[in-house]
Amino acid sequence: MDRRIILKAAMEAWGRQKVAEGNLGEHIPPAELYELLLRPSVNGENGNTLGHLTRCPICLRELKEIAQSMEEVAYWDCGRRKAAASELQWPQKIPTDGGKYVIEIRRYLAREDSGVITLKVEERYRDALEGKTMRVTDGTGRQLLEAEISGGEVSQVVEGLQSIVPQFLVRPA
Ligand SMILES: [Zn+2]
Repeated sequence: MDRRIILKAAMEAWGRQKVAEGNLGEHIPPAELYELLLRPSVNGENGNTLGHLTRCPICLRELKEIAQSMEEVAYWDCGRRKAAASELQWPQKIPTDGGKYVIEIRRYLAREDSGVITLKVEERYRDALEGKTMRVTDGTGRQLLEAEISGGEVSQVVEGLQSIVPQFLVRPA
């Protein structure tokens, strides 16, 4: 998934929200706030924007929300099973494409169609994600896991193993 598309959609949603009129002049369009976060070192052309930000709590709050969503999007990652077989075999161990996580799904021996899904955070992301609630969805958008990272990983019981579509999206919840 292209994170720029997600951000664009988020910005459009924010853009549709009418903010209260004040005596500060025009509020800063979300696209401009986004641009400011992407290229904060550009001098001169951002002067008016920065001036408005120092006086306008509405735009400042919006800037923080955009910044937070950008940070969270940095922790999105996708993974898919590489082998093309009709039936899923267990356990599955799938590293995500961006190298941030490993998804493992194990089946309970005694229960055909249920098991445990584990999300492991790779070493260099552990400090940033410790204590964060993460979500894993499959190729149909079905949620397989939503829980807090502890000690660099988290596990949850998952039902309906055979209907899992092994294209995974991992993201902060
Ligand atoms: Zn404003």
